[in-house]
Amino acid sequence: MTRSLSKPRSKPRRGGTSAAKPLKGKVAVVTGSTSGIGLGIANALAAAGCKVVLNGFGDAAAIENTRAELARDTGVKVLYHGADMSQPEQIRALIGFCVGKLGGVDIIINNAGIQHTAPTEAFPDDKWNAIMAINLHAPFHMIKAALPVMRERGWGRIINIASVHGLVASTEKIAYVTAKHGVVGMTKVVALECAESGITCNAICPGWVRTPLVEAQIAAMAQKKGITIEQATGELLAEKQPSKRFTEVEHLGALALFLCSDAAANITGTTQVIDGAWTAR
Ligand code: NAD
Repeated sequence: MTRSLSKPRSKPRRGGTSAAKPLKGKVAVVTGSTSGIGLGIANALAAAGCKVVLNGFGDAAAIENTRAELARDTGVKVLYHGADMSQPEQIRALIGFCVGKLGGVDIIINNAGIQHTAPTEAFPDDKWNAIMAINLHAPFHMIKAALPVMRERGWGRIINIASVHGLVASTEKIAYVTAKHGVVGMTKVVALECAESGITCNAICPGWVRTPLVEAQIAAMAQKKGITIEQATGELLAEKQPSKRFTEVEHLGALALFLCSDAAANITGTTQVIDGAWTAR
């Protein structure tokens, strides 16, 4: 499991007009936001005026720096809660923390995720269980805990960070592909149940995004094939992603922001694919 703390390249700018703060007054919780995609989305939401609760693992001092810097740069309240997404009672505590400290929860981004690759017959049981718990069960527990609060407010945005692997398969990813397909199904059920409530639920399905989760796969490929990181990166992209470029975490932040907007009020139960044409062929 990768726990390193990475930061998106661009920093949100402080201030701006109220038009630039469309989520002013809203409260968001982003799971797995000490790194990669989650941190990119947390940056985008905070820059749009949303109070944010960060979550995830990593070095405590580095997390506190990230939290304080984001709060300073955006002028919004940014808190951190260290709930382990494999533990349902800690997930309930995270939602309780949002309500207690920030008065509610309007947006949940179910993003925390891990990966492990191995052929099915050699796939370790403990890795299967961990991927199911974090990638599939956690979004269910998050949604279950947050929905009553959202229903009371008559507004909500639930965004599940699934994957192209929620739509198509790859070898040696039995747990990840199974979990992500489950997340896509979960998204549709929640969207139907919330269809008239002002709450939307959508899945974002990225292809390759260069984060610590993918860096680990590139390093493993380089080692297995005896090639350089640059060569492995080229092969990884060429194999699956026709655009041959990574999606940036800022692009995912912008997409999440759009799904939180009024313009997206009737977009629900969908999968938003951002994959450089991976799933087009
Ligand atoms: P990452 O490794 O950079 O970040 C994962 C985050 O999850 C980190 O903040 C980590 O601390 C947190 N996390 C891990 N286990 C946790 C747990 N038990 N409790 C709480 N937090 C935990 O990975 P990423 O690439 O940014 O992935 C984020 C999501 O995007 C995942 O769900 C992943 O499956 C999905 N995704 C990533 C890619 C990609 O190419 N990077 C593509 C498609 C989907």
